[in-house]
Amino acid sequence: MKTIHVDASVSYDVLIGEGLLSEAGSRVSSLGNIKHAVIVSDDNVFPLYGNILKESMSAEGIAVDEFIFPHGENSKSIEVYQELLEFLCSISMTRSDVLVALGGGVTGDLTGFAAATYQRGIRFIQVPTTLLAAVDSSVGGKTAVNLRGGKNQVGCFYQPSLVLCDIRTLDTLPEEEFRCGCGEVIKYGMIGDAGFFQRLAETDVRTWITDAIAACVAMKRDVVMRDEFDTGDRMLLNFGHTFAHGVEKLSDFKVPHGMAVAMGMAAITQAAEKLGACEPGTSDRLEEVLKKYGLPLEIEYSGADIAAAAKVDKKSTGSTIRLIIPEKIGSCVIRTVPADELMEWTIAGGMK
Ligand code: NAD
Ligand code: MG
Repeated sequence: MKTIHVDASVSYDVLIGEGLLSEAGSRVSSLGNIKHAVIVSDDNVFPLYGNILKESMSAEGIAVDEFIFPHGENSKSIEVYQELLEFLCSISMTRSDVLVALGGGVTGDLTGFAAATYQRGIRFIQVPTTLLAAVDSSVGGKTAVNLRGGKNQVGCFYQPSLVLCDIRTLDTLPEEEFRCGCGEVIKYGMIGDAGFFQRLAETDVRTWITDAIAACVAMKRDVVMRDEFDTGDRMLLNFGHTFAHGVEKLSDFKVPHGMAVAMGMAAITQAAEKLGACEPGTSDRLEEVLKKYGLPLEIEYSGADIAAAAKVDKKSTGSTIRLIIPEKIGSCVIRTVPADELMEWTIAGGMK
């Protein structure tokens, strides 16, 4: 088992390994004075892992309730958030109790936001069951739900008290969801660790998944500790995301996030290389690894459409936009470019 310690505005451990679901009771108890827990989970994940988690906490004398919602991004809504809060109120949850988010990023973001706001804040634990949640959404404290006007438009920074990542839960994850997570895993190699990237290229990440998740979490932790509230360095985590958000929007969210990130990373790297900002050969190496993990490269939308979508994205500040540019494998920089120059980048990135 690996432990990564996060020292943000709240300090907590991220545990990664096998069998953590059945140890959850004692781990939760050790947070101190917890009598009542609510497991929040979707209708795919709860039937698979809800009972084992429940039994483990009951065995420690913790009363356990559950809140189960329909799986999918549509549940990351104000309506489900409100239902969850009303449920917590109806069973008299107090600020000394705890919420347990069992599932992917949808569950984590929804539960985190409810935990942050219910009675002005109650503790919560992340139990990620997707690769994406394990390496990204369960760590760092961004919580949110969606509005009709856009994704993640209401939320706050609120750190979990503990993260338990039982890698055995990934055994039931659909192949496409696993691949999407690989998009983010490869991103960490590109922004922060050439050796890690090389290992992804030479081996199958499934054979060293605990180490790989731990490496990603440690990289995210380092960035979050430098910039918890996302005003500077944390933007590095958005490598590949500017064009990805455009692809997601233009496809009406039919292209999954991880796939869009893969395309976005391939495009910005190709552009950076063409425009002389990146070491020659980087783009080929990235594309090879993306292909190896079954991820797509080509963006089928026009450069003009992607540039327009990126400009309305929240990362744009007025007439300039911040792009995350790779210099070489393992190193990216944040560069502010005039929004008018964005077209040049999309075209250099291979878009029509
Ligand atoms: P998800 O939570 O919808 O999970 C994907 C699908 O896999 C769902 O259908 C779920 O039921 C199923 N599933 C989950 N675990 C499973 C398992 N072990 N076995 C079988 N099926 C399983 O989506 P996701 O990709 O995990 O997360 C996406 C969400 O995360 C988005 O809403 C995104 O905005 C958010 N996100 C947040 C952050 C953050 O920092 N807070 C970072 C990245 C993404
Ligand atoms: Mg992402």
